[in-house]
Amino acid sequence: MLIHSKLPLAGTTIFTVMSALATEHKAVNLGQGFPDFPMSSELTDLVNKAMRSGFNQYAPMPGWTPLREAIAEKIHYLYNNSVNPDTEITITPGGTYAIYTALTAILQPGDEVIVFEPAYDSYIPNIEVNGAKAVTIPLVYPDYHIDWTAVKAAITPKTKAIMINSPHNPTGSVISEEDIKQLRAVTEGTNIFIISDEVYEHLIFDGIQHQSILKYPDLLHRSFICFSFGKVYNCTGWKLGYAVAPAELMKEFRKIHQFNCFSCNTPMQVALAEFLSNREAYTGLAAIMQEKRDYFKNLMSSSRFTMQDSFGSYFICGTYERISDEGDMELSKRLTKEAGVATIPVSAFYQNGLDNKVLRFCFSKNKETLEKAAERLSAV
Ligand code: PMP
Ligand code: GLN
Repeated sequence: MLIHSKLPLAGTTIFTVMSALATEHKAVNLGQGFPDFPMSSELTDLVNKAMRSGFNQYAPMPGWTPLREAIAEKIHYLYNNSVNPDTEITITPGGTYAIYTALTAILQPGDEVIVFEPAYDSYIPNIEVNGAKAVTIPLVYPDYHIDWTAVKAAITPKTKAIMINSPHNPTGSVISEEDIKQLRAVTEGTNIFIISDEVYEHLIFDGIQHQSILKYPDLLHRSFICFSFGKVYNCTGWKLGYAVAPAELMKEFRKIHQFNCFSCNTPMQVALAEFLSNREAYTGLAAIMQEKRDYFKNLMSSSRFTMQDSFGSYFICGTYERISDEGDMELSKRLTKEAGVATIPVSAFYQNGLDNKVLRFCFSKNKETLEKAAERLSAV
């Protein structure tokens, strides 16, 4: 039996490849983005309480109502915007699923979607599996800003959506108010949707304000905005997130969602609904993560890597012109095997494998992990 593949060019994701290699070689894993420190025990206790209290059957299809209400309250507190929890928020099994569902709701075969590269690795396959085409635009190296002139030039009558991601994986770049103005200018008077991946909403450093689409009602009316609880509460394995969109768009989103996963696991939603009232748990995250960025960057100053700026996310990138002229894929595999540190080659986030010779390091780790990794990398 043969399948006519919908994704003939896709292999296994780089995260799985590098984590498997890290396990095989007992390497320190700064590759796949996940914390190696424990999540809040208060939150795990709340899940335990929810399960023991009998919240173990299906949640409503759009998500546990008190959780959607708590999210609407949080959005109002952070972005001074009123979102209707009944019609404009849907709980999803992770941010990736929210992005996939939004794309599936809007795309028809032949549509084009503008994607900035390096791009989180699920975006382009999500577009292609829907019979649409990704039109890629490189972020301008080395600070990875958006070239809006290139965006204007890439728009055609087939452009169905623009995807943005800030804070950005893998580079740690962030969009500014000026980017928002430009986004408004290129989409105004068009039917172009915006898919905004804001899973790192709270992981933004140096006092920079996150430019959420939720702050801009005139952009929100054409947008699907995707979030992940995994990144906010250090529980990536929970695979829970949510999407926000205007009611008319959310109606189509839910048509796809209800026949895919239908609803997400109940006890974790019950727990999160209660835990969201603790504002410090999410507003305090930036300072904790910024300290980790600074700690790791400082440790790496004794290595021969040249670290780039990171203003947000779990990640910081570095170049290695003083170490090797190998390709980044080759080097990251060799470092995993020989130096005992796994990283992610940034070329994996370009459809054509463009190799600026940059590695991505995840600093969302314990100090000891970062020290061990930096010590090994400094010997390279
Ligand atoms: N978008 C980006 C940019 C990410 O880095 C991730 C990784 N976690 C996701 C989406 C997906 O998040 P989740 O694990 O909740 O699916
Ligand atoms: N978002 C994480 C990263 O970029 C991992 C997600 C995954 O493994 N699919 O490393």
